[in-house]
Amino acid sequence: MNTKTLDIISNETLDTEKVNHAKEILLDLQADLKTRIGSNGVGPFLAAIYDEKGNLVSKETNSVVHDQCSNCHAEVNAIRAAEKKLGTYDLAPYNLSLYVTSEPCIMCLGAIMWSGIRNVYYGVTSKRVEEITGFDEGFKPDWLNEFKNRGITVYGNIATKEGEDVLEYYVNSGEPVYKPSR
Ligand SMILES: [Zn+2]
Repeated sequence: MNTKTLDIISNETLDTEKVNHAKEILLDLQADLKTRIGSNGVGPFLAAIYDEKGNLVSKETNSVVHDQCSNCHAEVNAIRAAEKKLGTYDLAPYNLSLYVTSEPCIMCLGAIMWSGIRNVYYGVTSKRVEEITGFDEGFKPDWLNEFKNRGITVYGNIATKEGEDVLEYYVNSGEPVYKPSR
């Protein structure tokens, strides 16, 4: 294990090959996301779902502002698109992996659990998302172990520097940090 993998957050034994593969995908997603910011109410999060052969099943941004819908997070949008495409509410038989530019929020953790997604790879941690943007990611008690208990593997904090740069770009562009008024 080299020092680079020590920063990875996971609920299973570290697999460098998996992490390196995920890093390639997440770097592509971060670059793709950056090109979409500033247009048509796109939020600063992008999620993609791949099958076990590496085929892209769905890829969606956060669209809360565009759709005027508080639950239109990237993960939820990508899961909805994948289920529609495959014609099922149960993605488990397809052994799918979700890649997302930042750690899933409290709502998306639930959406991932109910979808049957088997593997989750994410970029920036919720703590850093909150520090950089001011978005509220919610309270998340011990979700790594809860996912492990349900057979969902998680690797996170991948390509974090690039992900943080995109979030900073979003904030510096004057894009909205939307949240309910309290
Ligand atoms: Zn979310």
